[in-house]
Amino acid sequence: MFYVLCQSFLRVATQHSTLIFAIIPPMKIVNKPAAFFAIGLLLLIGYILYRSIITPVDVIIQAGHEGRSSGNTGAQTARYSEEAWNILVADETARLLSAWGIDVVRMPARVKFARAKIAVSIHFDGADKPCASGASIGYPSKDSALFAQRWRSLYGDYFPFKWHEDNFTQNLRDYYAYHWIRAEKFLLLELGELTCEQQTTWLKPRLKQIAHLIAYAIATELGREVPKPKL
Ligand SMILES: [Zn+2]
Repeated sequence: MFYVLCQSFLRVATQHSTLIFAIIPPMKIVNKPAAFFAIGLLLLIGYILYRSIITPVDVIIQAGHEGRSSGNTGAQTARYSEEAWNILVADETARLLSAWGIDVVRMPARVKFARAKIAVSIHFDGADKPCASGASIGYPSKDSALFAQRWRSLYGDYFPFKWHEDNFTQNLRDYYAYHWIRAEKFLLLELGELTCEQQTTWLKPRLKQIAHLIAYAIATELGREVPKPKL
């Protein structure tokens, strides 16, 4: 949104600079670049206000890399695509939350500005050395740490492979979507390693159960009583 605002502003400013400067002199502004800066600042304030009035939703579920054709398109093997697995898990998680009457918004890789009580981004890891990775959790601040601990305990009872420390990579610590989605609690879940055959053999038939476990974790975090999935 801010990018679009800036772009529109620059386009109008470039096309109508004579007109703008014709308006500005009566205001006795000597420093014209400063006038542009002031207008930019006003736009920024408008943008901050715009963000602060966005109505919050209960839950946002993002499928990592969904819709990306360039840049970080996610882990890929000859047999599996992280994006496809992320979408499957994210869709199923959202479907279940919705069925429980929880207000949920599904987002692809290109997220919109939003506010939520809980946001969860779904991923599977890839490693240069197969089976060097496993499951992990990323989050932007300590506000999410307890929720992360609960998820680790739930999924840790089930997932029989390696776990990393929370936020063990830069991408987990500073995921771009943390800046777009203002959530009281935001977890980026790496659910296993796509490039490890033992893990994909275990994961593939269990993707829907994993989605159920994520939905259960979210609903419980919201104080809802829902059935715990049988794994
Ligand atoms: Zn990913």
